[in-house]
Amino acid sequence: MNGQVQVAVLVGVALLSGVSGYLALRMGALRRALRIDRGTTAAILRAAVDGIVTIDEQGLIAGFNPAAERLFGYRSAEVVGRNVSMLMPEPYRSGHDGYLARYLAGGEARVIGIGREVIGQRKDGSTFPMELSVGESLSGRRRLFAGIVRDITERKRAEQRLRDSEAETRAILETAVDGILTIDQGGLILSANPATERLFGWRTEEMIGRNVSFLMPAPWRAAHDGYLERYQATGERRIIGIGREVQGLRKDGSSFPMELSVGEALVGDARIFTGIVRDVSLRKRAEEELRAAKDQAERASLAQSRFLAAASHDLRQPVQALTLFASALAAKITGAPASALLDDMKGSLEALTMLLDALLDVSRLDAGIVVPHETTFSLSTVIDRLAAEFAPLTAHKEIGLRTVPCSAVVRTDPTLLYRILQNFLSNSLRYTSQGRIVLGCRRRGRKLRIEVADSGIGIPDHLHGEIFKEFYQVGNVERDRSKGLGLGLAIVQRLSRLLRCPVTVRSDEGRGSIFAVEVALVGYNKAANVVPLRSAPQEVPVTGRGLVFVIDDEATVLKALRVAIEDWGYTVLTARTALETISMLTARQQPPDLIIADYRLRGICTGAQVVAQLRDMFETRIPGILITGDTAPERLREANDHGLTLLHKPIQPAELHAAIMENLSSRPGGEAASLGA
Ligand code: ADP
Repeated sequence: MNGQVQVAVLVGVALLSGVSGYLALRMGALRRALRIDRGTTAAILRAAVDGIVTIDEQGLIAGFNPAAERLFGYRSAEVVGRNVSMLMPEPYRSGHDGYLARYLAGGEARVIGIGREVIGQRKDGSTFPMELSVGESLSGRRRLFAGIVRDITERKRAEQRLRDSEAETRAILETAVDGILTIDQGGLILSANPATERLFGWRTEEMIGRNVSFLMPAPWRAAHDGYLERYQATGERRIIGIGREVQGLRKDGSSFPMELSVGEALVGDARIFTGIVRDVSLRKRAEEELRAAKDQAERASLAQSRFLAAASHDLRQPVQALTLFASALAAKITGAPASALLDDMKGSLEALTMLLDALLDVSRLDAGIVVPHETTFSLSTVIDRLAAEFAPLTAHKEIGLRTVPCSAVVRTDPTLLYRILQNFLSNSLRYTSQGRIVLGCRRRGRKLRIEVADSGIGIPDHLHGEIFKEFYQVGNVERDRSKGLGLGLAIVQRLSRLLRCPVTVRSDEGRGSIFAVEVALVGYNKAANVVPLRSAPQEVPVTGRGLVFVIDDEATVLKALRVAIEDWGYTVLTARTALETISMLTARQQPPDLIIADYRLRGICTGAQVVAQLRDMFETRIPGILITGDTAPERLREANDHGLTLLHKPIQPAELHAAIMENLSSRPGGEAASLGA
């Protein structure tokens, strides 16, 4: 070897030993690292939540971590060395070996490096869906496969639930009768169900992506764009979450009324709106028909009530005449049999009058002709008048009538409230033979309960609802004059509804009853705007002197009035028309002391207007009594306005007499200053 070659060899050896030293150093580090890795790997395998099963090339299990034990129900020792196909049911079990062999021969990868859903089988034979991903590794010359197994039963179930609910939602959307659409924030249609197609005549594909407002005609179209914009800018809800009635526009250009309700939903981050559209043409038509039917029924009821009012008005004329004649006759006839018959006749006439009044009241209330006029007034005016009306009626019974003083100021229609209480009191009087009747009131917050309590026969509990029905009377009430007609409480109920003043009854059979009506309480003793109610006819101890001028276009009634009034000692002049009256009194050049006028006169003036003219003519406030067959509240107001007493036909003679005396005594100077006879 020459020297050069020797040097080269030495350098080469030195180099080689340097490299191998370096390599030896690196291998030590690598081995240390590998040792750490092995420990770490074991820890990972133990703690892993997923099952990890390692197999060799023959498919024999080499490792089985605790999670795999929990999943499959085998302990590691039971499975290591056995074929992994034991962890699968058929047909996967038989297929697995061939599959592995194919892969090893360089064939397709169906699991390895990919992951798929397969079925696992537990030790107890039960199966479960699992997700399997397999990785391949080399351990020395050994090829190992590590399978990571996850039980996906829960996920599968959730997926199924989701699929079910999606199918359900789809079914709802498909079969819904209402059109259901979703739109985005800009109003563009995202989806539409088949009903929407049927409603508008557009196919879904034609609708998607267009602004929803194209399904409405002007002016709804323009308005709708505004709604969405305004809502998003200001949060002001015109349609969202509310729903409203708009017009829909079909593809063929025709339109229909539709109810549109829009809801808002968040899908992910995006806000969408769902619109539910309902064709309400049918409902509208039904409503229209119902309204028409109701109108017709109302017209019929109105016609019926007008007929009843007219009939009862015309019936009042002869009844009026009969009543006055009977009274005049009674003064002339003496002798027991005849006057007893006359008393019976008067009784029958009274009953007839009551019936006419009640029927007229019911028909007017049913037809809505009675319009309440609310005012604020001092309740004592009503109570005092009731006391004056009823006190004399208790005189012949062993009953005391007591009214508890009340300084309340209430708000309702005083005339109609009076009618309610009048009915309560007449009933108490009718169904109480001894003890007492108390009219009082008690406060209930902002309401005042006005009560009529009696110690009468009472009403069995189960009939408290019945007594308000028309013609209902408890027990077998004989048609007896002292009993009523069974219409009083029916009228009360109608009045209570009209005034929105609830009426209640408490009653103990055999012990007594309390009927009450509740009115709005304004305050106490602050009687602003007190409505003057007609003062009760009171016996005024004056004798009949004075000239009474009677105007009525019914000759018979006029004659009966003359007979009766003359009997009471007054001078009577009569006329049948306004014209006749004025010409007679102009000739006489002196006003009468009292005018009694029928409200409805032939010609252009009403009775009230004639009185007003005569007052103008003589420049003095002549007292007047207005007689009418019309029970409308307007008549009472008109009479009040003119300061006239209003009497309803048929008038009872005593009532007329009292009114005449009262009016004559209220003249300036009273009866004493009378110009008459
Ligand atoms: P009526 O004209 O018969 O009194 P209502 O309609 O006024 O008719 O009353 C119906 C029925 O209720 C009466 O027939 C009577 O049986 C019963 N009723 C009403 N008020 C009283 C009361 N205060 N005490 C006992 N029963 C009463």
